[in-house]
Amino acid sequence: MSAKSSRFPLPLSHVMGGDTGRRLSDADYRLREIAPQTAVRNRMQTCFPDKAAGQVKSSGFAAMPVLSVRQKNLPEPARGAAVMAEKVAAQGIRDTLVLDALRAIPRHLFVASALAQRAYEDTSLPIGHHQTISRPYTVARMIEAVRLEAGNKKLSSVLEIGTGCGYQAAVLSQVADQVYSIERIRALHEQARQNLRVFRLPNLRLHYGDGRLGLPQVAPFDAIIIAAAGLDVPEALFLQMAVGGYMVAPVGSERQQLQLTKRTGKKQWESVMLEDCRFVPLRQGVI
Ligand code: SAH
Repeated sequence: MSAKSSRFPLPLSHVMGGDTGRRLSDADYRLREIAPQTAVRNRMQTCFPDKAAGQVKSSGFAAMPVLSVRQKNLPEPARGAAVMAEKVAAQGIRDTLVLDALRAIPRHLFVASALAQRAYEDTSLPIGHHQTISRPYTVARMIEAVRLEAGNKKLSSVLEIGTGCGYQAAVLSQVADQVYSIERIRALHEQARQNLRVFRLPNLRLHYGDGRLGLPQVAPFDAIIIAAAGLDVPEALFLQMAVGGYMVAPVGSERQQLQLTKRTGKKQWESVMLEDCRFVPLRQGVI
């Protein structure tokens, strides 16, 4: 983080351009095993029996990307998720907690059955209402970015703007104590609720509303993840960051970049641009 500003909101000129993200070193990561919550474990007894039985251990970064014998023996969805996580790791994601969360959450349950076969490709897919489920790499990159900057400790309170089908919210529930997610399209909010019901995640709360306003009644958050792109980040969201907290947000229209911001003081924020990205637009109001 090198650009400083005491003005508000942050002008883009105060934001570093290009690939200024800190290069990740192995020392930045500790190998951590995910401890899936009971609800996820229950669900996985049908989809991911080996994982549910606790037999699939984190392969860590070094073990990527060859399919192990154990992965070949996994049922189709679990193998798909394992291969998907390897593809994501091969693109530079090293946070084992995040990779384990990608392995743990069955992505095919978040798309229409006609698209289920493609659910473990590293690609965004349509979820109706002109919206998409984000690309797994992008989901992982955003979560890794805030976790890495926060020193890889478990995030306590996280806000996601743009629930969509609920996939990223489910992944976040595995790496944070408490997750709040807001969606502005009622039909998608209901769909996400339906998709997530089976997981019974006690630490995930879905809200229907305009995420540009955040959730002042729950703020401050130690991480905010915005899953839709605006020309700038709404002021309310800057103000709902905890001091010392992080926000990752796609910014731009034709060309979008992921902007990582730290709140360094009561009236001070610092930002860097991480990389180019592609998101649906952040819109105002609810429908
Ligand atoms: N997090 C999703 C990605 C959803 S796509 C995933 O798991 O893959 C982005 C979502 O942001 C869309 O569903 C869109 O309706 C929603 N969105 C856009 N503007 C919003 C706003 N102001 N408040 C809340 N949600 C918004």
